[in-house]
This record gives sequence, C-alpha cells and structure tokens, in this order.
Amino acid sequence: MARMWNFSAGPAALPSAVLQQAQAEFLDWHGIGASIMEVSHRGKAYSGVIAAAEADLRALLAIPDNYKVLFLQGGASLQFAQVPLNLLAGQSADYLVSGAWSQKAAREAAKIGHISVVASSETDGRFTGLPDFDPPGSHWPNKHAAYLHLCTNETIHGIELHEEAETRLFNVLEAIAPGVPLVADMSSHILGRPLQVNRYGLIYAGAQKNIGPAGMTLVIVREDLLDRAGANVPTLLDYRNQVDNDSMLNTPPTFSIYMAGLVFKWLQSLGGLNAVAATSREKARRLYAAIDGSDGFYKNAVDLDCRSNMNIPFTLPTPELDTRFVQQSEAAGFIGLKGHKSVGGIRASLYNAVPLEAVDALLQFMDEFRAAHQ
Ligand code: PMP
Repeated sequence: MARMWNFSAGPAALPSAVLQQAQAEFLDWHGIGASIMEVSHRGKAYSGVIAAAEADLRALLAIPDNYKVLFLQGGASLQFAQVPLNLLAGQSADYLVSGAWSQKAAREAAKIGHISVVASSETDGRFTGLPDFDPPGSHWPNKHAAYLHLCTNETIHGIELHEEAETRLFNVLEAIAPGVPLVADMSSHILGRPLQVNRYGLIYAGAQKNIGPAGMTLVIVREDLLDRAGANVPTLLDYRNQVDNDSMLNTPPTFSIYMAGLVFKWLQSLGGLNAVAATSREKARRLYAAIDGSDGFYKNAVDLDCRSNMNIPFTLPTPELDTRFVQQSEAAGFIGLKGHKSVGGIRASLYNAVPLEAVDALLQFMDEFRAAHQ
C-alpha cells in the first residue's frame, strides 16, 4: 500500500493514526459485535461516542459553558442560509467579503432577508487580502446589525484572518457596535490554532477539511442567540430545536461524528491546539519561504499579513506550467495540488493531518521542477 502525500482542499487528508484506529474498530466497535455505523444513534454505544466527541471538542477549543455545540448536516453551505434564518429576526445583517466563500454566504443570505455587504476586498474580480478593518469603513460596524458575518479563512484564495487582525476587528466591533454578534465561517482553519470562542456569537465549519470526513457540519452557538428564529423556520433548521434534541432531531451523520471524535482525541494526543498551531505555522513558513525564494518562479499574490497557514495558492510563470506541475506532481506521489477551478494555478492545503514530511517532500519536488523548467 502506498499512501500519497495529500494536499487536497477538502475532503482532505485524515491522520493515519485515526484511519488505522477506525479500521481496527470497523467490524466490531469495542466488543459490541457491530460497527458503530450499524447501531442506533439513540443506543448506549453511540450516545457515548457523541458525548465524548463534544466533550473533547469543548476541551480543545475551551468552549465556554454558555455555548452549545451542534453536529449538523448540509455542509457549511447550508449554514449560509441557516444563519440568517435563525438570526436575522426581521433585522438586517452585515457581511464582510474577503473571498469566494464569504461572497457566497452573503448572496445566499440575501435570499432570506436584508443584508448589506459593508466591506469587500474584491478588486477587478480578484481577492488578495482582507477588507480594511482599521479604520473601519464608513458603513460599519453598524450598531443595529443583527450580526456581522465573515469567513476567517478563505479556502480558495488563501486569505486568513490571523490573531492580530482578529483582535483588531473584535476591538473595532466592541468600541463601535458592542453587542453585535460576530458570525464566522471557519471551515478551513478551525482547530488549526486556539480560539477565543467568546469573541463570536456563532461559529460554523464543514467537517471535511480539518475535522473529519464530509457529512457533518459543526456549529458553536451562544445560548442567547437561540431564540431569535421565527415560527416559520423549518423544524430541522431551527438551532433551538437541535440544541434541545442534542443534535438528534433526526438521525445524525453517525460515522462522521465518530470519526471527528477520533480526530479530537488525536489532536489532544499531540498536545492540544497550541502544539498544533506551532506545527501549522512551521509548515506554512517553509512553503512560503520556498515560494518567495524561487526568484519569481512560484508566486503567491496574497498580502503578507493575511497569507493563510492552511491553504496556500500559488502560480507558475504560465498556465501550461501550472498544468505540467500538477501532472508531474501526481506522478511523483502527490495528490490534491490543483488550484480551485475559479482561480486556476496550484493550491497546497496544509491541514492538521498533513505532516511536516509531506511539506518537505513537496518543497523538494518544487525545487526539482523549477530546476527543470526555469
Ligand atoms: N466555506 C468555506 C470556507 C469552504 O472552504 C467551503 C468548502 N470548500 C464551504 C464553505 C462550503 O462547504 P460545504 O461543501 O461543506 O458546504
């Protein structure tokens, strides 16, 4: 068996140790004589699995008691609609647009109610940075907004809101519009670093990047936001109903939650999110250094202060070389390096399950490719 070095953007690499544990438990989970996939979500075995997953996640992210954790379905994309359905309550919400995902979130929310895109970093159809937070634009933060939405890591463009910018944004919000909840799509960097959950009203993330296999969507929501949904919100989409039923209003994605639980335990075994963040920074540092040190052969267009540690897009001198790079990388044992179809180029996603050795192997391949084509 040969596992490739996997740089996919999502579904993405999972830790080998987790896959091996799942394999060992696949036919007979803890002596129950069945797979965990084959038993009732309301039975004793599965109740323990979901409770442990929640407890471990709470410990990893230090989630305060006044926040609820939900394991839902529909992907982050359904949250683009579910958030406004639950939180707008007839008001208007503000959206920051810093890439394709926050743009999609804003467009979807506009189908549900009134929203304003208060700041966007789009220039000539491209995104290479965050909107300016300091000083804030004249239209925001808006004291009367139901919430302020942003995407803290734009997976396609490789733009991340790092801690310093996050603090600046949070302080601006506190000073000008205190009480307006921040709502964040953290799909592609959640669990990559410690988080001050209490800065946010609601956090959501699709699982298939840094959490586990596809099929589960994580929502972390502050209790006081649970009762804004009107009576017309569909039963399954009402956060309050999901909270009251421990995410089991209907059958939850049992296998995905089980796998996420194994990933949470694996993250704990690495020393928690401070240790994980140190490795993440080092992986990104090495790849950006290789790009920046390539005499312009490899280029990343993102502003230095918001280059993502998780998704690193780059281009070669011509689209033909991009294509050849992807083809040869596949032959050399790498998968998932093709950039998103909307932007082309190359993208390396360095989620937690991608080891430092994978990055070093990529750097060596990049050096060899450059030597052969420069
Ligand atoms: N938000 C971000 C930041 C993403 O990267 C993605 C998926 N690539 C989505 C939302 C959509 O996720 P899903 O496919 O789970 O709906």
